[in-house]
Amino acid sequence: MQLKITVVAGDGIGPEVTREAVTILRSVAEMGGHSFEFTEKPIGGVAIKEHGSPLPTSTLDAALESDAVLLGAVGGNEFNSLPPSKRPEAGLLQLRQALGGFANLRPSIAYPALSGNSPLRPEVTEGANILFVRELLSGLYFGEPRSWNKDTGVALNTMRYTREEVVRVARVAFELASKRRKKVTSVDKANVLEVSQLWRATVIEVAAEYPDVTLEHQYVDACAMHLMNTPRNFDVVVTENLFGDILSDEAAVITGSLGMLPSGTVGGKVNLYERVHGSAPDIAGTGKANPLGAILTGAMLLRHSAKLEQDALAIETAVNQVLSQGHRTADIARSGDAAQQSRQNIVSTQEMGKLVFGALNEIFNRKQSLHAV
Ligand code: NAD
Repeated sequence: MQLKITVVAGDGIGPEVTREAVTILRSVAEMGGHSFEFTEKPIGGVAIKEHGSPLPTSTLDAALESDAVLLGAVGGNEFNSLPPSKRPEAGLLQLRQALGGFANLRPSIAYPALSGNSPLRPEVTEGANILFVRELLSGLYFGEPRSWNKDTGVALNTMRYTREEVVRVARVAFELASKRRKKVTSVDKANVLEVSQLWRATVIEVAAEYPDVTLEHQYVDACAMHLMNTPRNFDVVVTENLFGDILSDEAAVITGSLGMLPSGTVGGKVNLYERVHGSAPDIAGTGKANPLGAILTGAMLLRHSAKLEQDALAIETAVNQVLSQGHRTADIARSGDAAQQSRQNIVSTQEMGKLVFGALNEIFNRKQSLHAV
């Protein structure tokens, strides 16, 4: 398998966590006999300093010519006085737009070893593994007309969807569900909104193409409650832009730490993979950043852009293994009693990367010796 990956590590802890993710991807390439080519390019604050633009043309060109883009994080306090269009975050928005992905994939997984980190009770989160498919290019965030008339005191936004926009994101959800636990929950507000009625009717049409996948519908308000009460009843959740933005953040509490969350945006010219957290200037350079969100983002890249499911699973298993052995970065350490603390080994960003690397190598070596038998 050959893969061209553009790496845009960005600012703050972006380069720190991305370095660990790239090391893991290189290791998968070496052990699996794949050829991954990495091209590093600046984005965000570092690009403003070097090139005067948060998304230099050479970065955009490289991204468009690659098979996948791996993004660290952008942003820093020193740029806060710039107008929004000149800030590091503008580079990311331009990149997302140019790559054109319309389906944002965000897993929320209850890792057994981290069950005490979630504010939800372990018996509620146990076994939860949800994949959000959020429509990203349309809906309330993009609909026209939009306005704020300060004289009349009236503001307006429009939630607008076309049938085609719903069909394409629903297909992504059903395809993914057919490889998982074969259930799609479509979330809307069809009891009130016409746009949700179109959404629901279209999702039902698409469901007919996937007879082995069960479809259920939930209103967004009820879904917000069910996610907290019975998270393990969900498999794939597909929903429009605003609802998906809110619900995927809500469900992040199932995992228990921002530093653990991966994401990927697919369906456009080139898929974009980015961990959920930001550049965390408060801990940049201290070695405290959790690289697992970035490493798990690398696993998503292998799954969705390279169809290397077994390699993606190997990375996820390695992460699970390291956590169950008690290794923790500071953000996922428990502050409980002495017994609890003694079972934890607090490690740095780099050390965590090395532990996952070691676990991954063991997994691959076991596989190879099984093949040899
Ligand atoms: P943030 O995600 O950077 O940090 C929030 C809190 O979580 C901080 O206390 C931070 O230390 C902690 N944290 C985040 N990631 C962590 C990790 N991997 N390990 C351990 N702790 C972690 O959000 P913020 O503070 O609101 O924003 C900081 C900067 O990041 C801003 O400039 C913002 O615009 C930018 N940002 C960028 C992205 C992106 O690149 N996609 C996303 C969100 C925020």
